[in-house]
Amino acid sequence: MALATKDASPVSQKIGQLVDYANATLEQISPTPRLDAEILVCHASGLSRSQLIAQSNHSLDGLGCKQFDLLLQRRRKGEPIAYITGHKEFWSLDLEVTPDTLIPRPETEHLVEQALIHIPPDRPIQARPFSVADLGTGSGAVALALARERPQSQIVATDISEKAIAVARQNAHNLGINNIEFHQGDWFAPLADTQFDLIVSNPPYVRQTDPHLGEGDVRFEPKAALTSGAEGLDAICKLVTQAPNFLAERGWLVLEHGYDQAEAVMELLKGAGFNHCATYRDLNDQPRVSEAQIV
Ligand code: GLN
Repeated sequence: MALATKDASPVSQKIGQLVDYANATLEQISPTPRLDAEILVCHASGLSRSQLIAQSNHSLDGLGCKQFDLLLQRRRKGEPIAYITGHKEFWSLDLEVTPDTLIPRPETEHLVEQALIHIPPDRPIQARPFSVADLGTGSGAVALALARERPQSQIVATDISEKAIAVARQNAHNLGINNIEFHQGDWFAPLADTQFDLIVSNPPYVRQTDPHLGEGDVRFEPKAALTSGAEGLDAICKLVTQAPNFLAERGWLVLEHGYDQAEAVMELLKGAGFNHCATYRDLNDQPRVSEAQIV
């Protein structure tokens, strides 16, 4: 089957055939060709994933097919599905993402889970709200997930990228979440003298020479959100050494890091005077999140 080319007038095609065609086309370039195919057909047709299966014998009109073909060409050139559709689901939240933001990863939900353990669901009426800072928020994924789960907490989210902050603000608006303040600035810079009960971050931590930076979806993501120095530890080092100045007594720092960085992160935490340091594994059984407390 061939889709309409620029010479031919676009013709309608059956939904199921479009999925099969895209699946075959993407087999060489994507680890998840059928999933990608389904998402692209949904995006071009406006159908949900469940409608897609129920309506596989329905046809997409010629114009829709042409739009679909353009999306498929972009994916064939390697562009991530999330940037093509402009959306990524994280913590069951539908988030807008752009090439100015990292695409939220499933393993980062583990960071959210670990952070939530430290945020009480309720506070006595007279107590001040529990305060959280999310540093390097990108699309806002972590801050938004925490805000959704703990609506009584007060969250500040920062990112050096003005464009990323605009995306994060838009996501908060779309989701009706209003307990986050967003500020553009480098890590702690926008926090002034404030002290927080919890600081959370998914910083860039990939080594500059990591070959995986030249492969797959990662090639399209902002380098500043991925890599940080030769060992990938520069941002983490900055966060760990400065966090004590911005943490209230008994405040927690919870960080995501690379699967082989747990030991280095532990050393940094202990060197900065933290206590109760611990590392947790993600669903792939990789050490992925470390936390520590100022006592
Ligand atoms: N976990 C991501 C990756 O390996 C990187 C995200 C990050 O640096 N925070 O692609």
